[in-house]
Amino acid sequence: EHTQQYRPTKAIIDLQTIRDNVHNLRSYLQEGVQIIAVVKANAYGHGDVAVASAALQAGAGILAVATPDEAVRMRQHFPDVGILVLGAAPISFVRYATDHKIMLTVFSTEWVKQARSVQGLSKPLLLHIKVDSGMGRIGVTSNEQLLELYEEIQATEDFIVDGIFTHFATADEEDTTYFDKQVVLFKELVNALPIKPRLVHAANTATALVKDAALQFDAVRYGISLYGLAPSGYVADLLPFPIRQAFSLQTEIVHVKKLKAGQSVGYGATYTATADCYIGTLPIGYADGMIRKLGGQTVLVGGERCPIVGRICMDQCMILMPRAYNIGELVTLLGAQGNDFISIDEWATKCDTINYEVPCIITSRVPRTYI
Ligand code: PLP
Repeated sequence: EHTQQYRPTKAIIDLQTIRDNVHNLRSYLQEGVQIIAVVKANAYGHGDVAVASAALQAGAGILAVATPDEAVRMRQHFPDVGILVLGAAPISFVRYATDHKIMLTVFSTEWVKQARSVQGLSKPLLLHIKVDSGMGRIGVTSNEQLLELYEEIQATEDFIVDGIFTHFATADEEDTTYFDKQVVLFKELVNALPIKPRLVHAANTATALVKDAALQFDAVRYGISLYGLAPSGYVADLLPFPIRQAFSLQTEIVHVKKLKAGQSVGYGATYTATADCYIGTLPIGYADGMIRKLGGQTVLVGGERCPIVGRICMDQCMILMPRAYNIGELVTLLGAQGNDFISIDEWATKCDTINYEVPCIITSRVPRTYI
């Protein structure tokens, strides 16, 4: 299979930074609390296999993914690690899940009945009951629904209630009104079970780091913090230890020209030079995930900030430079260069979005490389 290697545009993921983040995150947990490393969506765009292995080395015990296919990928690389699918799984995945010991999320009695009809399952099916305590996504919402589901699972030989969990909608906000309601409902439902399952879990990064430590329960699901990003500005200010961004994005200048005052650059000729200046062309564009909203964003060249000028094209964009840099000059779009640093949060602000979205939308055309 061909791997991309000729274009200089690449993401660089610092695995030592991920291990350091996990070490810090682990030291913050109560005794005996396990780390579930959330590596869904190709580890938030960082590269699932490399990140999972770094997180496991540094003390994570379980991997969480969103989809069955992501679970298969993880199982192929990690034969012995606990893997949990957080999203809905189709009945067609049940056989793989039992054969390969994948933990599935369950929230429907009907689903359990259908899963029971799958013939010739040889091994136990490990299920985590999802409680919708206010996220409004998937999950049971009442004691009655929970107990009906629980009984249905218990009535099935080799189906095991291995866990119960929920997800918070506002854990990263200062106002705890909604969060507190979710906590009350989740605890009520957990307590309604006749037997406590092996793993009760509720905490995402924000909950684990800035809420009551009792909410760490048996395990926490650390996602964004593995990658060195804070879930919100509010949480960033309260972080009990530093975490560091693991993701950098780099390219090289492929063309340099002098623009005369009055000449323009790019589609729509939206940028016109007001004085003679140097323009560099970069081999990265919106098809790489550098969306057009990033027009005007600065990049680092020779340790200095240079703005993107004109509209970002599909595969290329142009920058305004203080001097004629050489072809091949390193350009840092995200991460450190010289004494400066461009954060994923800076891009998120520029794009009117959250930091989670930024590495996720850097497309697969940008190879992930590791240091
Ligand atoms: N748990 C579930 C169910 C999730 O969907 C996510 C991510 O969205 C996480 C945990 C991880 O959250 P965070 O990245 O904020 O730590």
